[in-house]
Amino acid sequence: MDNTKINALWQNLKNDQNNGNFPVTIFNGYTKTSDHGTVIGLFNKDGKVINELTGVGFIIFDQTVFYALGGGQISDTGYLKQGTNLIPVYDLNKQIFKKVYVHLVDTGTVTIKINDVLEQEINTTRRNNLTKNHTAQHILSYTIEKFVNDGELTDSVLIKEESFLLAMNKTDNWLDVLLQARDKIITTFINHDIARIEHQMPIAEARALHLAHPSFEYDPIVRVVEFPAATIDLCGGTHVNNLNEISYFEIWDCWVDKKKVRMESSTNQVATVHYFSTWANNKIMELQQLLDRIKKIDPQFSYQLPVLTTPTTFVEKIALENKIKIIEQELTEISKEKNKLLIQKVNELEIEPIIEPISNNLNLVSFTVNDEILTLDLMRIKLNKFFQDYQNSLIYFNNPVLKYAYISFTKVNSVNFNLNQYFQANKTALNLTGGGTPFFLNITYQDNLDHFMETLLLEIKKS
Ligand SMILES: [Zn+2]
Repeated sequence: MDNTKINALWQNLKNDQNNGNFPVTIFNGYTKTSDHGTVIGLFNKDGKVINELTGVGFIIFDQTVFYALGGGQISDTGYLKQGTNLIPVYDLNKQIFKKVYVHLVDTGTVTIKINDVLEQEINTTRRNNLTKNHTAQHILSYTIEKFVNDGELTDSVLIKEESFLLAMNKTDNWLDVLLQARDKIITTFINHDIARIEHQMPIAEARALHLAHPSFEYDPIVRVVEFPAATIDLCGGTHVNNLNEISYFEIWDCWVDKKKVRMESSTNQVATVHYFSTWANNKIMELQQLLDRIKKIDPQFSYQLPVLTTPTTFVEKIALENKIKIIEQELTEISKEKNKLLIQKVNELEIEPIIEPISNNLNLVSFTVNDEILTLDLMRIKLNKFFQDYQNSLIYFNNPVLKYAYISFTKVNSVNFNLNQYFQANKTALNLTGGGTPFFLNITYQDNLDHFMETLLLEIKKS
């Protein structure tokens, strides 16, 4: 089930204004990855209350082990079991009915009824990845805020399975802040024996300790998650028990977005290797495209790209990015210079037309250039000038090297002949492509245009 479908289904449930009167769900997922729950509410895929569910719909239990989106951490996925039947859980929501966990499921052909007791089992690999990324986000936030960025707050958290997003206010030394935070996390926190401590406290106390975000709303009693010396925060998400469970941390990317610096990081080494190699391949491809564009202008141009090794760390990635930027600038300059020369070449091009009469009041004005660089696009300005220089003419411009032609009546002419109609009727037989209007044609051809031109001129003569 893709995200578009999932969002549409949640919208159905929101729209139906069921005002369900359900007790707050007991969440057992901090300590367990599987459990069982009694069904106390069912909705079909349109969001209507039902007593039996078969297929796509929503289930509410008295208790659950499935985490529902909150604090930036995305929901768990997993399975419900009824006997040997497996029912996939795609997503959860605890906002529509406040603190009531709604499970989005597809029961297939199985029918679920109110008061059924189902086994619950989350996807633990996914949960572990989320938990590690979530814990790393706490440490990254805290390190930026308390150790390297003078109390500036971070925000815009999104915890995904492969990576997590975070933002901070843009300061002059923001890249330095990030690099320092990265270094501290790798050398001091992850892979270190720092156990999690959790306690509950009244929100007033948390505010006094500056643990609460000034503009967020909280419950009267809040959950405090602490890894001594590394981070302390209020949070309802899932976290590792000890920082030695996190063996890897890396920043993927950072970019400036208005007054914010946004960053993407990960505790997942496999995902990071994949991200860095995709990134490097795209960069190399862009350079190759730039080279190809220059070669189009100057087929003799040759340039050996240096060996660009895929980075394995954020620091290597920044170094490579700088190296690529210099090559890009160099190639862009070369490209501009070559383009300038090319336009000059077109301007200075002198082509003598051959003028022959087609009829009493119409001439054929033919130009030919044999050139591998002069595309029709480049020739357009030049061709426009011919229109002013010649009247009562059929202009025929041909480049046999690139095998294209441009055929057009000048503005002033007394012929009533539809070029495009004639072309469309004959192009397939003559293996031509292109098109135009009654007054002009752009044609590309395989062999030559001699036969087409011969018959065209005969037809124009007849008309
Ligand atoms: Zn948390």
